Amino acid sequence: MTMLGIIALDAADYDLAREWGCENMLLETHGKLETFAHSGENPNTLEVWTSVATGVEPPSHGLASTGEQQQWRNPVLEYASAVAPYLLPKDARVKIGTWLRGDGGAAEDGSGTDGVGMTLRQTDHSHLFEPDNRVVRWWPGVTPGKHLSETWHWLNLASRDDISDDELWRRLYGNAGLEAGWLQGMGQTDVAVAGVHMHALDAAGHAFATHPDRLREVYERVDRLLGSVREHVDELLVLSDHGMQVEWIDGDSKPGFHSWRALASTTLAADLPESVFDVRDWVDEHAADSDDRRAERQPAVMDTTEEQLRDLGYLE
Ligand SMILES: [Zn+2]
Repeated sequence: MTMLGIIALDAADYDLAREWGCENMLLETHGKLETFAHSGENPNTLEVWTSVATGVEPPSHGLASTGEQQQWRNPVLEYASAVAPYLLPKDARVKIGTWLRGDGGAAEDGSGTDGVGMTLRQTDHSHLFEPDNRVVRWWPGVTPGKHLSETWHWLNLASRDDISDDELWRRLYGNAGLEAGWLQGMGQTDVAVAGVHMHALDAAGHAFATHPDRLREVYERVDRLLGSVREHVDELLVLSDHGMQVEWIDGDSKPGFHSWRALASTTLAADLPESVFDVRDWVDEHAADSDDRRAERQPAVMDTTEEQLRDLGYLE
């Protein structure tokens, strides 16, 4: 009887994680994970994570990168946005602003994350989180991906000096903490599989592709968060969709663009999935059998009496 936590660690680069000895990104069993590019030259976040969840290629899961993301295929814009989110040309800022504006309005929690109404498209294809003893949050392609849009929005705000660098990183680590904390919470429940997406390393990679010290600091902090998750789940699977090209690795011709160095790592003594398309089957094979979990499930318990509810003001 085990619970498997899955962390979709966006842009975790296998070589960088090894260079900096990130022991929680590189669990007992770890290796390079084969990824793919479909609409562009390099792996695309939404396309790959949807393929991880569904096990199929973009034409089958329906989320090939088009529409609002088409703008990124302009090489100048793509380069500017990838390399220097803090230094975007004005045109690019306006376009990103428009893309992210969505339905606007203040954040529900009043945290000042205004203007992030955009939600990502979600696949109609079957996926690995559908069984009722499996849960998922913030995963691009199978959820509205709120944290992913927030990240882009905040990078854009930082690029316009609307928020400070300190404020940007408070928000990004705040979301990383929510993601890690949610998985810890699921580790206390009867779910068999819980998957969560974390975008902090991707934001850091785009921002610090020419600043090894700052990128290393983010890797180390995120690795520490993963360590706390590890204490609260039975087993862990860490995956990335791609890595990040950086200035100090020979052969990385475009720092700030996604690299092909995706990783997979797990606490299980098992062969890793070879490619992003194998993850779904791998999870089905290694996750606790759903019937086992269901057999142990108890009806919801509630000792509160009608009188107590009346006292509390919940009943007339
Ligand atoms: Zn990504």
